[in-house]
Parts: sequence; C-alpha cells; structure tokens
Amino acid sequence: MTRAASQDDSGNSAPSGAGKTGGVLTIDLDAVADNWGLLKARMKGQACAAVVKADGYGVGAVPVAQRLLAEGCSTFFVAHPEEGVALRAALPDPSVEVFILNGLLPGGETLLAHHRLAPCLNDAAQVRAWLAFCATTEPQTAALHVDTGMTRLGLDPDDLDDLDLAAVAAIPGLVVMSHLACADETAHPLNDQQLTTFQDIRRLFPAARASLANSSGLFLGDDYLFDLGRPGVALYGGNPTPNADTNPMRPVVHLQARILQLRQIRDIRPVGYGATADTFPPARIATLAVGYADGYLRAISNRGVVYLNGHPCPVVGRVSMDLVTVDVTDAVERDDTLAAGALVDLIGAQHTVDDVAATAGTIGYEILTGLGNRYQRQYIGLSPPTAAPEGA
Ligand SMILES: *Cc1c(COP(=O)(O)O)cnc(C)c1O
Repeated sequence: MTRAASQDDSGNSAPSGAGKTGGVLTIDLDAVADNWGLLKARMKGQACAAVVKADGYGVGAVPVAQRLLAEGCSTFFVAHPEEGVALRAALPDPSVEVFILNGLLPGGETLLAHHRLAPCLNDAAQVRAWLAFCATTEPQTAALHVDTGMTRLGLDPDDLDDLDLAAVAAIPGLVVMSHLACADETAHPLNDQQLTTFQDIRRLFPAARASLANSSGLFLGDDYLFDLGRPGVALYGGNPTPNADTNPMRPVVHLQARILQLRQIRDIRPVGYGATADTFPPARIATLAVGYADGYLRAISNRGVVYLNGHPCPVVGRVSMDLVTVDVTDAVERDDTLAAGALVDLIGAQHTVDDVAATAGTIGYEILTGLGNRYQRQYIGLSPPTAAPEGA
C-alpha cells in the first residue's frame, strides 16, 4: 500500500513541480474503506456492494474498487456497459461481480457476457432477451430490477405476470432489486410503500438475493436491508442522513486550488465578470486557478467560502471558467508570508462536499461527479493492482 506524499496535507506547500498552476485533488481511499466498513456493518452480516458508476462518483472507479476488493467487497454496480468493461479489466478476479444498472439494450448480450458483466434487466423484453441468450450459452448472472414507485428504470410489477418466473428464478446468482426514490427523507411515505411492494415481489423469488437500499436506505431501518446493500455516495463521504446533524461518514475528497495572484486593493473597485461585487481598501484579493470548467460551479459566485490555513475566505464576484477571486484579507493578516503558488482548500474535512453543494444549491453527488480532470490527482491508501490471471 502506498501513501500520498505527506507534504500535501500541510496546506500550502507545492506537492510537486514548481510552476504548476493546477489544483490538487487528494482522494483518501483509507476513508473510502472505512466508510464501506461502516456501511457493511449496518448490513448485519449480509453483503454490501459498492456503486462505482460515473467513475466512482468522480473520484476514480478503478482505485476505489481495487481498494474495496481488498477490504472484502466483491459486488460492484456501474451504469454503462463501457464502465463495466473498464472495471472488469481492472478486477479480473472471477469472484468479482459487476452489475450494469443501465441494463441490456438490443444486441448488447455478447459484450456483457464476454466481460462477465451482469445486466440489471429493466423491462420484460430485456428479461426475455437475456433468457434467450443464456439458452444458447452458459447461463449468466443478472439482476431483475423492479420499479416499486420511482418511475425511472425497472419493470412495472404488473409486467411480472407476462414472464416465465421459474425461468427468471433459475438465473444463476439472481439479484432482485429496486431503488428508493426518497430514502434521504426518512419520514417520506413513499419509503414504506416501496418497501411493501418490494417485499411482495421478493416473495416470488425466495432463493434470489434481494437488494433495495442505497446509502440512505441503509439508515431507514432493518426492514430495508435485505441481502445486498447498494451504497454509492456515502462511500465517498456524502452524508446519507441529511436530516441528522452529523455525518457518520469520513470525508474522502480534499480539493485544493492554487493562488495565481495576490492583489492589494488600493481603491474601491469592482471584481470579476459583470462587476457583481465591489472590494474596498485595504482588502487583499487572491485569484485562484480554479473555475466552473473544473466543477467549481458558477452558482458559488459571491456565496462560497474557501479556507486558507484553516481560515475562511469568502468568494468575491463571479466564478469564471478557470478562475475565482476570494477575499483573503484576514488570512494574510495572520500569515504575511502568503504568496502566489500557495494552495487553498476548496473541499475538505472543514468544508465538506455537502457544504459546497449547499452553497451552490445542489447535492454532493453533483459536486463529486463534476470534479474536473485538470487537477493533479493523488490517492492515499491505494491498493496494488491485482494481477490478471493467466489467459485473461
Ligand atoms: C446510484 C444508485 C445507487 C447508489 O445510490 P446512493 O444514493 O449514491 O447511495 C443504488 N442503486 C441504484 C439503482 C442507483 O442508480
């Protein structure tokens, strides 16, 4: 196991390469492992998968999955078949299951089977196509995704009447699944309704594994657990209990941007596009090399806060594509050695993904998956890649 250079934790030292202007995105896989451990413990002895779609919610599906495999997680969910192909290449271990949430579109069977990817069968035609395909080759694992009230993906429960249930039940390793629409709102009546519908469906497939709970669903009570947890965002530090005061998960993402220019304000002046803010002497304004092209959303304009040596610095003016301006007057007063090149914290333990999301009027999921590709990425707690078995 390798660790990221510890100098990156110190806040404003350059991790490598003098003159670099890009930000630093540090992803703590030890925290991901701890988060999975906590979620797995909530499953009370049943299995817990990991949802690593959208490149592991933006933090890296392969490093996350490799680390979680080393922790004992052997079931993964992605959205697209292509994501599954990439994950399978990184996790050739035959005991690893990779489910494809987007399901099976016509003609997709061969690719899935070739890479041992299990489709989440989302309508009756997909079920029939998979059964027909499996009749021509060796039977392959799949999930049956039933829509219990979200009206997004999955079979309508009535459509089960048209299916050969015995043939479905005979799919090896079958998972019967559904997805909760309001799991993050503990008191929402739809949770109970979905649970009841899912319990009825599960009775049709007593030998299959049943899977209902996403991150927040794991906190709704024992009835929601079933045989396989399916958390995503909580692995990456997002709060699965947004109504509670505390977040049980460890923060995973530490995002830092670099100061390009440190300005002394000598007269009252407008800042940024649209001149939406004024700044007054003797303010110090720092221009940071991060913008909405990096996922630092424009909605943060004039509302956000960044941290310099632990000291809050408000965003002043609009976020531009590559730049944002922040008022560092107080921070400079505390540390007059601050200079261009210093790193400023945008997301971290002090100011979480959910905090940034709240400022931008969105959810942590969107902040995470929007993290751009111009950051220097570094991982804490990487697992060594698993060697491919012979012939793979
Ligand atoms: C994304 C997704 C999950 C994971 O949800 P989180 O809220 O991130 O835990 C689980 N199941 C399905 C079907 C999903 O689409």
